[in-house]
Amino acid sequence: MRSVSFFDDRFPVKTVYTDNSDWQRNEGWQRIEKRNAVFQECLGTPIHHVFHAYQVDSGNVLVLTEESAAELAGMDKTQIPKRFGGYDAMVTAMPNIMLCICTADCLPLFLYDPVREVAAIAHCGWRGICDGIVPNTVGKMAECFDTDPKHVVAAFGPCICGKCYEVGGELKEAFARRFSTREVEELFREGRREKFLLDLRKAVTMELRRTGVTSERIHDTRICSYERLDYPSCRRAGTHLDAHRQTFSGIVLTQRME
Ligand SMILES: [Zn+2]
Repeated sequence: MRSVSFFDDRFPVKTVYTDNSDWQRNEGWQRIEKRNAVFQECLGTPIHHVFHAYQVDSGNVLVLTEESAAELAGMDKTQIPKRFGGYDAMVTAMPNIMLCICTADCLPLFLYDPVREVAAIAHCGWRGICDGIVPNTVGKMAECFDTDPKHVVAAFGPCICGKCYEVGGELKEAFARRFSTREVEELFREGRREKFLLDLRKAVTMELRRTGVTSERIHDTRICSYERLDYPSCRRAGTHLDAHRQTFSGIVLTQRME
């Protein structure tokens, strides 16, 4: 379990992303209560609740206010999609509320606005990116909390890198609906056997820049989930991994001592 020091060392915020040792070492890790207790202990900050996204590979964003968080906290998993639908990003301005997503090759995007004190996390797979998950998340920060995108700091957690992510040509067409021809050429390099190599980090960077986030505020942990054997990768495993075996990425605003 590690934190994005780019955030934690400078701001009243705590971040975390897990690796394979976390679920291997912690008995009962697949249970949410167990996992949440480990997060709290590791982060060393009070966490009143951990919200796990109801991920559906979309561009949908859930804003957690006191009302929606209270409602969500009282629900079981079968009620959530009926009330809130699926969502791949969460935004909040409430301290001590941890927002959490899971990935195993997709890109976990941490976002924080130090001026308005807003935190967000987004699960960025190719489908979500094509559905606008990045501008939608920054857009919700702006719409609901007055975030100015130029203040936003962003970080990428472990994800499959542009040298390892082999995809078919049909993805180029999907990206062409959201990115310019020149951008698509930059995102997809020629691979072997008529395949292409897709760079998710570059795609998310392009989207962040378009929304007004500045390059120097975008930090990359540079961990490739496919190359690093200590991180979960669906591609390397050759199968979809259970959620509890994936990387959990979380962000929580800590209370400022004033
Ligand atoms: Zn790689």
